[in-house]
Amino acid sequence: MKAQPKASHFIDGDYVEDTAGTPFDSIYPATGEVIARLHAATPAIVEKAIASAKRAQKEWAAMSPTARGRILKRAAEIMRERNRALSELETLDTGKPIQETIIADPTSGADAFEFFGGIAAAGLNGDYIPLGQDFAFTKRVPLGVCVGIGAWNYPQQIACWKGAPALVCGNAMVFKPSENTPLGALKIAEILIEAGLPKGLYNVIQGDRSTGPLLVNHPDVAKVSLTGSVPTGKKVAGAAASDLKHVTMELGGKSPLIVFDDADLESAIGGAMLGNFYSTGQVCSNGTRVFVQKGIKDRFLSRLKERTEKILIGDPMDEATQLGPMVSKAQRDKVLDYIEKGKAEGATLLTGGGIPNDVSGEGTYIQPTVFADVTDEMTIAREEIFGPVMCVLDFDSEDEVIARGNATEFGLSGGVFTTDITRAHRVVDQLEAGTLWINTYNLAPVEIPFGGSKQSGFGRENSLAALEHYSELKTVYVSMGKVEAPY
Ligand code: NAD
Repeated sequence: MKAQPKASHFIDGDYVEDTAGTPFDSIYPATGEVIARLHAATPAIVEKAIASAKRAQKEWAAMSPTARGRILKRAAEIMRERNRALSELETLDTGKPIQETIIADPTSGADAFEFFGGIAAAGLNGDYIPLGQDFAFTKRVPLGVCVGIGAWNYPQQIACWKGAPALVCGNAMVFKPSENTPLGALKIAEILIEAGLPKGLYNVIQGDRSTGPLLVNHPDVAKVSLTGSVPTGKKVAGAAASDLKHVTMELGGKSPLIVFDDADLESAIGGAMLGNFYSTGQVCSNGTRVFVQKGIKDRFLSRLKERTEKILIGDPMDEATQLGPMVSKAQRDKVLDYIEKGKAEGATLLTGGGIPNDVSGEGTYIQPTVFADVTDEMTIAREEIFGPVMCVLDFDSEDEVIARGNATEFGLSGGVFTTDITRAHRVVDQLEAGTLWINTYNLAPVEIPFGGSKQSGFGRENSLAALEHYSELKTVYVSMGKVEAPY
């Protein structure tokens, strides 16, 4: 099999198998071929992973941040040296075109190790607080064993975005990738060992929604960071809350992307296409409600249709391919259902809307699809589709579009295209979302915080802000005098 790892799990520095776990296949979405056979973690594997993480964490936390950072930076170098192989594996795991994975997946994981490795020495300092003759100081201390649970759209990136800040703060991580994309995280674990990470600090175990709770409910786990859907987030945050564990929730969205009449039209269309079709639309922060001001509606739609119909769909391993298949048949069927709802509820199908017969075969391909004349109450305007389906809605005024943009339970991201810089700031100030873009969309370099508000989650990944979510403050009050007691 094309991508069979040595074993299903990676624990305490090595591959581990337990064939008593439920077997499952890893499928290459472009062909339907089985590329690996794995086993979900048994309770014994979960215990082993957490026990090894717990043991390793104490010594790791006692190392200097500089020494920890050095290992992460080495891991970043190895990832960059192996970018091609890692990108091919990511393409096999997800079906995303190599054109994308080669620039956006292992590289953004490597960025996370490089960034957090680089700031280790200065980013974890505490404060000195003068109190007259007394004083206090704070220390930033690790939480202990952290659990990371991943979605299937950016498996290697998610494994690194969670692992890098967790490790640099002195924690251990047990990571469970999505059952749809089990392969990439194992390679990250291997690379970390090669870079010098002590055994047990980054363990990977496989499994699905029945395995996740074994990790989340484990008494030795201090924190859970989930990337997934809102319903899963509610379950995981609820379970973690019953034990008062720390949580980071990176959940779904239905983000507004607002295009005013004065926008640079080609940039706005490019932003909308990237924000709906990249990774075959399987991006949480996508601007799936594209609000277009009425004055440019016709021009916007005609150029959008023209550009969308030129998108090259095909073999993800061909560097010319711009759109690969969806991650699984189940996900494609879900998206096709939404397309049918869009048609039934009266949206205008501008382009796409089905399976491209010329490339599909057993692959889970779907055409990039644009609906125009979408209204706020339509299902496709309210629910996260998580596929290459763009909804274009019309609007008249700034106040109106802000109110409609915010009329959702989600709050992950949003964007505005306009050449009026004052208006751009006014609008982003009022949009209820964690990450916003002006005159671009979906750029998420490691230097900037990323995360959602409202039901899209809480906590932030990347940037210095992530350190606060993988550590806690310990305050020490120091008295320089005698204790004056009234009794
Ligand atoms: P999902 O919620 O079905 O699964 C996510 C992960 O949670 C998987 O690993 C799954 O096995 C695990 N899981 C499911 N139920 C669980 C439970 N009860 N306890 C513990 N773990 C459990 O999501 P998905 O379909 O893999 O990914 C798509 C979703 O992820 C979309 O909603 C998307 O918007 C979101 N997403 C968010 C971000 C972000 O950063 N905000 C990034 C990528 C994807």
